[in-house]
Amino acid sequence: MLPKVHILGTGGSISGIGPHRLDYTLYPESGKKLTIEQLLARIPEARELAELSGEDVLQVGSPSIGPAEWLQLLQRIETTPAAIVITHGTATLEETAYFLHLTVKSGRPVVITGAMRPPTSVGTDADLNLLDAIRLAAAPEAAGRGVLTILNNEIQSARDVTKSNAFRVDTFGSRDFGVLGYVDSDARVLFYRSVTRAHTTATPFDVRGRKDLPRVDIVHAYAGADGVLVDALTERRPAGMVLVGFGGGSFPTAFLDAGKRAVQAGIPVVLATRSWNGRVVMIGLSPEPIQLGSGVIFGVQSHALLGQRAEIEVASLELGDAIVAEWVPMIGITYDSRDDLLDVALDRTNHLIRYPKEIVVEEDGGALRSVAVVDGEGTRQIVHLRAPMMLPPAMAHP
Ligand code: ASP
Repeated sequence: MLPKVHILGTGGSISGIGPHRLDYTLYPESGKKLTIEQLLARIPEARELAELSGEDVLQVGSPSIGPAEWLQLLQRIETTPAAIVITHGTATLEETAYFLHLTVKSGRPVVITGAMRPPTSVGTDADLNLLDAIRLAAAPEAAGRGVLTILNNEIQSARDVTKSNAFRVDTFGSRDFGVLGYVDSDARVLFYRSVTRAHTTATPFDVRGRKDLPRVDIVHAYAGADGVLVDALTERRPAGMVLVGFGGGSFPTAFLDAGKRAVQAGIPVVLATRSWNGRVVMIGLSPEPIQLGSGVIFGVQSHALLGQRAEIEVASLELGDAIVAEWVPMIGITYDSRDDLLDVALDRTNHLIRYPKEIVVEEDGGALRSVAVVDGEGTRQIVHLRAPMMLPPAMAHP
């Protein structure tokens, strides 16, 4: 019996209709797109690979795809008991892929593809990419690997992949980390490696059934940037903001000062880097009202905890004993989702809790009393605050 593969069409160049065979640029203007049925009619061989079904969820260019459409796709994936192929414009393919990689609660194959040349053009990659995507989704080896992308015969992880060239067909790459495998010229699906970071069922992100997502904006720093854009954004009070800086985490001073003002205004701020590869590391352990990391940064706590005296207690469940540290000033608590690391930044040192399995925040009438964490080895660690601290309203729904 053939595996079941369901195709969700969203539009993009893979379904574009150009005015003539040598058009590679004007086709989005026509606004017309081929349907999934029409795309499948061009590759009848696909019916030998899988029992196919499909639907046109959207018919748009991918610059028009964002959080509302991601939730729509997630809902379709969750309610369809088949391996999934999504056809998508290449412009924001990586965002949709990464969102689904973190939020789909299933190990079924989910494969996203697109094309750099519309199906009406000479040398189009639309047919082969869709065929490869169906072949990949139908392969048992594709299950349990998170969301995969395939263009140009290359299988990439949604975690790493990015579009690197405006026009070439080999535009999707994973930089430092490379391809996961190939759907090769002899039609074989070959994997050479897997992603090791948490995805799909292993992430803490469960947004099933949600109608919208909190607004988070991104501001890029550049040489000479001041704080005007960040301050303007703070005025609009987004649920969070990402500030993109340089290298391992540096910023023009005026820009970073504006970031600190955002933290003071109760807005969680995440610092990121414009460098293609590498991390933003925790720096600046001086009592600054902002903390750095490559993942989520609870800027609100970072600021609010400034100067609070915290006690760290590590209790080994096996031995049943407890080591109580002295009171030390705590600067903030940062959770880095990429490394799955909880970082309690103390004066002069950082207390790192790897692979936290459970984080329980003890509140009392809106005041923070303690944070209890069970780490990857089952050890319970408790961060006590000497005095309960009122949480800003933004903290109620992180
Ligand atoms: N404009 C197209 C899009 O929908 C580009 C593409 O698909 O390559 O992203």
